[in-house]
Amino acid sequence: LSTLYVVATPIGNVGDITLRAINVLAIADVVACEDTRNTAQLLTRYGLSKELIAAHEHNEREVADKLIARLHDGQRIALVSDAGTPAVSDPGARIVDAVRAAGLRVMPLPGPSAAVSALSASGLLNDRFYFVGFLPSKSKQRESVLDGLHAVPATLIFYEAPHRIAETVDALAAAFGPERQVVFARELTKLFEEMHRCPLGEAAAWLAADAHRERGEYVVLVEGARPTDDSDDANAERVLGILLDELP
Ligand code: SAM
Repeated sequence: LSTLYVVATPIGNVGDITLRAINVLAIADVVACEDTRNTAQLLTRYGLSKELIAAHEHNEREVADKLIARLHDGQRIALVSDAGTPAVSDPGARIVDAVRAAGLRVMPLPGPSAAVSALSASGLLNDRFYFVGFLPSKSKQRESVLDGLHAVPATLIFYEAPHRIAETVDALAAAFGPERQVVFARELTKLFEEMHRCPLGEAAAWLAADAHRERGEYVVLVEGARPTDDSDDANAERVLGILLDELP
């Protein structure tokens, strides 16, 4: 039954893998992965050993062709990344797209993703959220992305590499002002997991207060824009206008 399974794997704690993910990895003919060493280690933990194909940013198209040929032969393929859900700020999207375009079956196996895990425990509003992922590293481009997010009325979710966290916090405070709430979700599911919520104006001091905070993996969430009083007034006036027009 040729299928490409998109398999989520742990973001830290090795217990965070589903029974279904283990079953699919066990029956897969081949595992396409971001880094063969990492995935070999992961499979060993679950007592598995499989043929691995490296699929990263630079060879995704090429690999996609090979995988499509194998799917045509009736093989079952698991796609994994180093951590969390493949194709979410990780390689995989081009392979998925190519396999779908070839008319072949793609199935997601739900599991860990740092963004959703952080959101679920952040306490910020989550009826609407906007996944930004990684910001550009160049400050001009970063500012322009943040400018475009200023008025978005949804919780904003950012990924960040450990060595850039301080710089990013400064950029967020400059773009959104000191009052918006920020939540840091650091090292989720790992030994030094930490979550902290404060106004953006206090974020730099929190980071600086402990040298460990310069390291580790972070999801950063920022409270969304609130509808301003101005727009409420404008709305009230518009409704009043409509009502007055209707008066005899
Ligand atoms: N595909 C992954 C997912 O579904 O979450 C994301 C991969 S992305 C290359 C790596 C980024 O995810 C890190 O820089 C960090 O922002 C976030 N991340 C991954 N694991 C994390 C963890 N255990 N705690 C906090 N953030 C994490």
